[in-house]
Amino acid sequence: MRILLVYPLFPKTFWSYEKILELVNRKVLLPPLGLITVAAILPQSWEFKLVDRNVRSVTEDEWDWADVVIFSAMIVQKQDLIDQIGEAKRRGKLVAVGGPYPTSVPDVPQTAGADFLILDEGEITLPMFIAAVQRGDKQGVFRAGDGERPDVTTTPVPRFDLLEFDAYDSMSVQFSRGCPFQCEFCDIIVLYGRKPRTKTPEQLLKELDYLYELGWRRSVFMVDDNFIGNKRNVKLLLQALKIWQQEHQYPFSLNTEASVDLAQDQEMMDLMVECNFNAVFLGIETPDEESLAMTKKFQNTRGSLADAVEAITRTGLRVMAGFIIGFDGEQKGAGDRIVRFVEQTTIPTTTFAMLQALPNTALWHRLEREGRLRDGKDGNINQTTLINFTPTRPLADIAHEYVDAFWRIYEPVTYLNRVHRHFLILGAPKCKPPAKLPSLVDLRALAIVCWRQGFVRETRWIFWRHLWSILRNNPAVFEHYLAVCAHNEHFMEYRQIVKDEIEGQLQEFLANEPSQPPVEVDHPVEAMAQSV
Ligand code: SF4
Repeated sequence: MRILLVYPLFPKTFWSYEKILELVNRKVLLPPLGLITVAAILPQSWEFKLVDRNVRSVTEDEWDWADVVIFSAMIVQKQDLIDQIGEAKRRGKLVAVGGPYPTSVPDVPQTAGADFLILDEGEITLPMFIAAVQRGDKQGVFRAGDGERPDVTTTPVPRFDLLEFDAYDSMSVQFSRGCPFQCEFCDIIVLYGRKPRTKTPEQLLKELDYLYELGWRRSVFMVDDNFIGNKRNVKLLLQALKIWQQEHQYPFSLNTEASVDLAQDQEMMDLMVECNFNAVFLGIETPDEESLAMTKKFQNTRGSLADAVEAITRTGLRVMAGFIIGFDGEQKGAGDRIVRFVEQTTIPTTTFAMLQALPNTALWHRLEREGRLRDGKDGNINQTTLINFTPTRPLADIAHEYVDAFWRIYEPVTYLNRVHRHFLILGAPKCKPPAKLPSLVDLRALAIVCWRQGFVRETRWIFWRHLWSILRNNPAVFEHYLAVCAHNEHFMEYRQIVKDEIEGQLQEFLANEPSQPPVEVDHPVEAMAQSV
């Protein structure tokens, strides 16, 4: 059986980082970990080819070669998923789809022509697909039982060998699935449940062994939605990983996503730094406590968020953070409060979006009951789309605050000032990878960044002043600092995209719905907080 695995295109998003990837001759930030895990679960007597459409297009020879084409997609890849299903069907291929988006909204790929829907987690539903294909079935829908979740300790090592390594900036591995928290807007807990399931340390180290054996020597992203969801097991992993990294002379720098309560566990943070983790993404969402309680993100209300960011930074983990605007009951000026918080805490890189109701989340169901959803489940959702429901304050106010805050956060001089302040307090790395000569590509990227930010742009004075200051005050983070300065190249372009897209959609929205009646909130924050 010849299986062609195809990963659809992403639109330009906050995470696409084209400008920075261009500088270092890469095409994409992260590989399609789900598809290479699917390839590892399917019978190894089958043949596989993988095309990441973010790297290149599928060739006619590859379409001809395939017996079955398998797609995996997230919601932002919806349009290309539909188009590529059409391409495969036009060539008479059997098509199977899976991944987060088809699992949440199976009727969209089905209507587009998919023959097999492999939904929920593949460890459970791929064996059903294999049996169906071996029986000669031409279609089928495979779902896990209600609440059924696989034991990920049996998940095989992903087929990293199918990837075109040179195209990616970072590799990805996954240690756990699921998160113990209950944020109302989150689809992770719908897809993977609230009981974090982890692999064994040995299993994860085997994945790293394989990457090492294949010659990978750059960064690795732990894609867990909340890396510290199961603290006990994560510490066991970190203890083993620390030894593995020492023995292999730190071939990988690591980063991940975690909940803010990481700051309360100094032992965990120290272990992470000792394993060569250098950055962590935190879902902060908003500094407004009422909004955090409204969205059931209670873990962010138990202490000072600013203190948490500082503790994590001082330990040696650069903080990236996510912010959202548009929560129910939100008061005017939320955008301003986010800008002030970001400046106060010096977080260099923040993903910032208007709240979206993802299909089948608790937020989606509540808004559906309240008759407030604006788009159906097949609406477009990403960082440059308007809120997809009727908010409790005028949508135009939220959109203006969003664009204004995004613009100010990524004003080039403001950004460099913030990066400088963050790196002055960033704890020094605790492990010493052997020194190596920079590659020609790295030197070229460095020259371009220095030329653009140090000579051409209005950043020229502070660029050199800050560079010198970091060299004098915190030289151990110098290389890391320069890499984050380079991100300015992306944000300068991306903030313009956000502005143009949101303002364009807002004009259209206002032309169709010039006056919005205020929405009455009949679920006060206090009542919701008490119910948990
Ligand atoms: S902490 Fe993150 S992963 Fe966990 S429920 Fe909240 S948003 Fe989802």
